[in-house]
Amino acid sequence: MRRPLIAGNWKMNGSKADSVDLLNGILAGAAEIMRADIAVCPPFPYLQIAEQALGGSAVFWGAQDVSNETSGAFTGQVSAQMLADFGCHFVIVGHSERRLFNAESDDLVARKYAQAMAHGLTPILCVGETLEEREGGQTEAVVARQLDAVLQTSGVDGIAKGVIAYEPVWAIGTGVTATPAQAQDVHAFLRGRIAAQGQDVATRVRILYGGSMKPDNAQELIGQADIDGGLIGGAALKAADFLAICRAGD
Ligand code: PEP
Repeated sequence: MRRPLIAGNWKMNGSKADSVDLLNGILAGAAEIMRADIAVCPPFPYLQIAEQALGGSAVFWGAQDVSNETSGAFTGQVSAQMLADFGCHFVIVGHSERRLFNAESDDLVARKYAQAMAHGLTPILCVGETLEEREGGQTEAVVARQLDAVLQTSGVDGIAKGVIAYEPVWAIGTGVTATPAQAQDVHAFLRGRIAAQGQDVATRVRILYGGSMKPDNAQELIGQADIDGGLIGGAALKAADFLAICRAGD
């Protein structure tokens, strides 16, 4: 009943020409994908190219971050309204690289989530533990804390308007993927925590897995009961690989 979503996070990769090629490559194969939603999140400067290439197609586009502020003297930041202006449907918030390299707190991420929703964007909230946290038996406590920050700010109705991505930090860009069972356990935990506040929302909200998802492991991961698609980094930079993952989710 939940429609799968495969979203590509291009991070800070590629040139203008590369972006055009990648978008055209994805578009060429996207029409064959029947059931899964597809989205790409290019770097900010290439959003206009995405809008031009993808407008009128079934492929969504979005951004990798958004300001928690509405407008004003915030040098270097990009507002939710600006993203909406470029036709963005999604925006990633709380990616572990932003939590780590830009010192984003749970509270800041929750405010970004609320800001995105206020402008009609669909936030993709990333949560996930580090290797140290997993080995210390902290996985559930960490993802609960990250989820709860958004639940407290936006409520369970806010969760209903977004997407969650479970991304174990130790699996991102490392080639080490969570086993389907490890991922399923955390997805089920997150869905259960949401269910405690709204069973209906828990049943409907999409929870993606991210962390070295590739064409050869996507089907088994997405086949788990509580895994509703993927947030894809490295494998989203080659149209053939990205489309193969989309087919696995279809
Ligand atoms: C990500 O950064 O969101 C991600 C999942 O990256 P990768 O697929 O490269 O692990």
